[in-house]
Amino acid sequence: MKKEANNKKRNTKQRRIILEELTKVKTHPRADTLFHMVRRRLPAISMGTVYRNLNLLKEEGKVLELTCGKYSSHYDADIRNHYHFFCTDCKQIFDLDEPLLADLDKAISRRSGMVVEYHRIHFYGYCRTCKNSRG
Ligand SMILES: [Zn+2]
Ligand SMILES: [Zn+2]
Repeated sequence: MKKEANNKKRNTKQRRIILEELTKVKTHPRADTLFHMVRRRLPAISMGTVYRNLNLLKEEGKVLELTCGKYSSHYDADIRNHYHFFCTDCKQIFDLDEPLLADLDKAISRRSGMVVEYHRIHFYGYCRTCKNSRG
């Protein structure tokens, strides 16, 4: 019984630290990158634990998982709906400071007869740095 309680406490602490580290950055890290960040504070943590906690945080709606095609999953602690720009060259993901297309949800709901709750948009291209190095 005691052991279980300790495990639970440890898991909660791990999850809190994973979320804290993710909240510190705007880089939308992959799970393996986040693992290296978290390991500085929790040297004994495993990659599997990071994955498991990320999935739990995702299910609890505390992190966003960005998945797209050949990109592996990236994570974002900013759970407000916002748009992302994927640089196809350096593979960085940037937040776009664009207003949400709120009318789009309504228009699609109206035209399709379905209920749109939210939408996600990813833009692809070359970031400012990669654009300049393309000559
Ligand atoms: Zn780039
Ligand atoms: Zn973001």
